[in-house]
Amino acid sequence: MTAIDWLLIIFLAAALYAVWKQRASRLAAQTRHERETEEHNQAHADAQHANTARMGAMLDSMIEGLIVIDVRGHITLANRAAERLFSFSRTMIGGTLLEVIRHHEVASLASRVNAGEEVVEHEVRLESPVVRVLQISAVALRDAAQAPAGAVLVFHDVTQLRELEGLRQDFVANVSHELRTPLSLIKSAAETLIDGGKDDTVALVRFLEIIDKNANRLTFLIDDLLLLAHLDSGRAEMRLGPVTVSTAVQDAFDDFSTKAASRGVTLTNEVPPRLVAYADADRVRQVLANLIDNAIKYGAVNGRVDVRARQLTNGAVEVCVRDDGPGIPPESTARVFERFYRVDKARSRDQGGTGLGLSIVKNVIQAHGGEVRVESTLGAGTQFYFTLPAEKT
Ligand code: ADP
Repeated sequence: MTAIDWLLIIFLAAALYAVWKQRASRLAAQTRHERETEEHNQAHADAQHANTARMGAMLDSMIEGLIVIDVRGHITLANRAAERLFSFSRTMIGGTLLEVIRHHEVASLASRVNAGEEVVEHEVRLESPVVRVLQISAVALRDAAQAPAGAVLVFHDVTQLRELEGLRQDFVANVSHELRTPLSLIKSAAETLIDGGKDDTVALVRFLEIIDKNANRLTFLIDDLLLLAHLDSGRAEMRLGPVTVSTAVQDAFDDFSTKAASRGVTLTNEVPPRLVAYADADRVRQVLANLIDNAIKYGAVNGRVDVRARQLTNGAVEVCVRDDGPGIPPESTARVFERFYRVDKARSRDQGGTGLGLSIVKNVIQAHGGEVRVESTLGAGTQFYFTLPAEKT
C-alpha cells in the first residue's frame, strides 16, 4: 500500500468515527429526553393523584353535604356528608339526583338551576332515615364557553338550630304567660281597691293579700329565671369543696319546718352522718330545698318526707328525697324536669310554684357531672334521686 492509500484509510476511519460519535450522542440525548419526559409525566400524574386525594379528603371532611350534578341531572360528585344525609352509597354516583336521593323537592330545585336560575336557596325537610331540616343552596356551573354545565348543591343541616329556635320561642311565650298571670291579678286587685274596695276592711285585707302573694310569685319567677339563665350561660362558678350531706339536709329541713308543720308533714333525715360529697354547698342546698319543698307541697297532708343517701359502688354519692304523696302519673315522670312543665297547673300556681324548680335541680346536678331521676307510684309516693361526686375529680 502506498502512503496515499494509508492516508485514505485513516481519513475514512476518522470520518466513520465522527459519524458514529454523532449518532451515539444523538441516541443518548434522545434516551435522556425520553427518560425526562417519562419522569415529568409520572410527576404530573403523581401530583394529579395527590391533588384528587387532597380534594376528596377536603370534601369528605366538610360538615355540609355537597353534590355536583351535570346538565342532565346526573350526579358526578358527592361527599360523605351528602351520602350520610340521604343514605346512599358511593357506587350510586352517576345516577340521576332523584333516583339517588329520592327527594322531589331537592330534585326540582336542582332542575331550576339547570334551567337557568343562577342561585336557588331553600329549606327542606327530610322525613327519613331521620327527620332533618336542611338548608340548601344550589349554584349553577358554567363551562369555559359560559354554557350551562350543571350545578353544585350544598346541604347545611339546620335541624338543631330550628329545634333551639322552637324551644326559645316556646320559652319566651311561657315566660310572658307566667308574668302576665300574676301581673293581671295584681292590677285587678289594685283597681278594685281604687274603685272603693279599700273602704271595706275585709275586702281591703283580701285584695292586699292577693297583691302580696302575686308580687311574691313574680319575685320567685324572676329569681328562678335569672338563676337558670346564669346556669345556662356556663359562667356559673362552682365553688367545689367537701359537703357533709346530712348537715345540708338538716339545714334545708330547718328552713322548711314551718311549712311542713302547717301541712302536718314529718321530716326525717336518714343520711349517714359522715357521708361527704364534693360539690358546691350552696347549690346542693338549693337542690335539696327545691326537692324538699316539692315533697311537702305535692306530698300527702300529714304525710312523711324522708331523705336518705348512700355511696354507690362507682364512688358517687346518691341522695333520695322521698314522699308518700299521690305520686306522678307515668306519662309525666319523664317531663317534670322540663321548664314550666307541671302535672297540675292550678295546684302548682296556687302553691307559688314557678314550674322551674326541677329544671334548676337538673341543671345544677348536671353541672356537677351528676344525674337526676324520678321514680313514682300513683297513690304511693315519689322518690327523686340525684348523684354527686364524692371526691375531687
Ligand atoms: P313547681 O314550681 O310547679 O313546683 P317544679 O319544676 O319544681 O315546678 O315541678 C314540676 C312539677 O312536677 C310540679 O308542678 C308538680 O306537678 C310535679 N312534682 C314535683 N315534685 C313532685 C312530688 N314530689 N310529687 C308529685 N308531683 C311532683
